[in-house]
Amino acid sequence: MAEHNLQSVAFPTLADAQIAEFGRCASAVSKIYRNGETLFEVGDRNFKFHVIRSGEVDILDYSGDVPKSLTVHLKGGFTGDISHLTGNPSVVTAVAKGDCEVYEISSDALKQALNQCPTLSDIVLQAFIARRQLLRQSSDFTGLRVIGSRYSQDTFRLRDFLAKNHVMFTWTDLETDPDVDKMLKQFNVTEADTPVIACSSMLLLRNPSNRELADRIGIRHPLDREVYDLVVVGAGPAGLAAAVYGASEGLRTAVLERTAPGGQAGTSMRIENYLGFPAGVTGSELTDRAILQANKFGARIAISSAVTSLAFDNSYCLVQLDGEDPVTTKCLLVATGVDYRRLGVEGEQHFEGRGIYYAATPTEAQMCRGAEVVLVGGGNSAGQAAVFLSGHASKVLVVIRGNDLYKNMSSYLARRLEQIPNIEVLPNTTIERMNGNGQLSSVEMLNHKTGQERTVRTPAVFTFIGAVPRTDWLPAEIERDNKGFIRTGQTLSQSPHWNSPRQPFLLETSRPGVFAAGDVRSDSVKRVASAVGEGAMAVKFVHEYLKEM
Ligand SMILES: Cc1cc2nc3c(=O)[nH]c(=O)nc-3n(C[C@H](O)[C@H](O)[C@H](O)COP(=O)(O)OP(=O)(O)OC[C@H]3O[C@@H](n4cnc5c(N)ncnc54)[C@H](O)[C@@H]3O)c2cc1C
Repeated sequence: MAEHNLQSVAFPTLADAQIAEFGRCASAVSKIYRNGETLFEVGDRNFKFHVIRSGEVDILDYSGDVPKSLTVHLKGGFTGDISHLTGNPSVVTAVAKGDCEVYEISSDALKQALNQCPTLSDIVLQAFIARRQLLRQSSDFTGLRVIGSRYSQDTFRLRDFLAKNHVMFTWTDLETDPDVDKMLKQFNVTEADTPVIACSSMLLLRNPSNRELADRIGIRHPLDREVYDLVVVGAGPAGLAAAVYGASEGLRTAVLERTAPGGQAGTSMRIENYLGFPAGVTGSELTDRAILQANKFGARIAISSAVTSLAFDNSYCLVQLDGEDPVTTKCLLVATGVDYRRLGVEGEQHFEGRGIYYAATPTEAQMCRGAEVVLVGGGNSAGQAAVFLSGHASKVLVVIRGNDLYKNMSSYLARRLEQIPNIEVLPNTTIERMNGNGQLSSVEMLNHKTGQERTVRTPAVFTFIGAVPRTDWLPAEIERDNKGFIRTGQTLSQSPHWNSPRQPFLLETSRPGVFAAGDVRSDSVKRVASAVGEGAMAVKFVHEYLKEM
């Protein structure tokens, strides 16, 4: 969207009738703020949504070295952003500029209003999405600060975690940033303490775990210990679709996600075959929208919540989390997708996050700007990654084991790769060795047809070589095929674990009430659309099962 268009979507002016409609919201109160009074502050949790009836409200960013005004809302404007729906803390501060009169509304009442009034919902949600987009595009907005070396696995882990969770942050590279010594001094830390996380002039954490970081910045929302109708494990496209349909159809729905919502699709820089997006859509945008939608309908999403095992108590499922009490649910949907395979080259584990990457997003692209990079794999995800990286690296060498790029890649994508001048395809080739001292510096490759060896100096190898399902945490009652993918559907009525007189539903596993959807399912189509479709379909079977209980 063009910049001026984005501005007008981000900051619309409500008509008098629409202002009045917000005034009728469940918890709306009319309030007057005097000049200089604060409506809410950066970091506030459960902060209120405000519709301006008269006067002006200044929106300020305190995350940089000096406070900056980002925008001023006038009559008919409204404060807030997607944090109202996700439950995350505010990223900005709002202050009355002169005396002003507002309707003040709680986030819960706002959600209710958005569900009841489609016109207001359109205006407000589009504005929230556009505001985040503007902040992301702005080179002025600092957000959190991550200070750490490009050669540190923990720095990469923290940057990756924040990026996947759509937290805005600025990375200061210990190796290249001229101001780094000054900054370390300012926060009273040494290089040995890094990576560190800071906000404005405050040091928040030294090399935290992902969960500590999520807790400190308020983006993790542990679940209430109630009995859910549906718990979904995994917030990729299948899990998020199930959350949207489950919550919108009145089920008490919760999603448990190990790292961040989006799954594999969240790492795609352009999904071109998803219905309704002729120009393509980034995985990150699709995820952002799905999270908003699920939150709007009342689904609970808990990040940094890895599920470690599953047990049963009569007809209830007990879902065990890493380091937390179990969550109880009547139905469970397993939507844990797949993980990319390791290359199997000696010593590769030393270079994970320091030269070997399993996704190609802006986080990884920053590490290889202007360098020659190697990408292993011949499927569509490899093709998309090669196209994206060709815009950042000086050259992308695409290594495939076979001799035909068109065999596993859609022909439109294979053709595009052939047309990009700084992409070279190396057929019949494998990586034999990786070298480097701490950080990857070169790889040795072998062409099995010609016997030719080639050594390439590179800081990064990207691997997209097929996937393994994430099902090792499941008990034996949940039948899997010989590759570990979950079996579902009617044939399971013969399973020794199936204990119901009826036939299993289409997406039901060998245990009644436990369903599987998306890439983790045996014989599934590995696509965003099919994962979304299966997530939505699973909810229909959940209703059927609940009727039986
Ligand atoms: C780079 C890339 C580009 C792609 N491009 C396209 C494309 O253009 N078009 C297309 O149709 N498909 C594309 N795909 C494939 C598509 O993304 C997948 O088919 C789809 O994401 C599968 O969705 P899913 O929900 O089944 O699983 P996933 O997306 O794999 O999501 C599973 C989620 O479960 C979480 N999880 C796993 N284990 C646990 C646990 N124990 N506890 C809690 N959470 C857990 C994971 O962290 C993850 O978020 C692409 C894939 C990649 C990697």
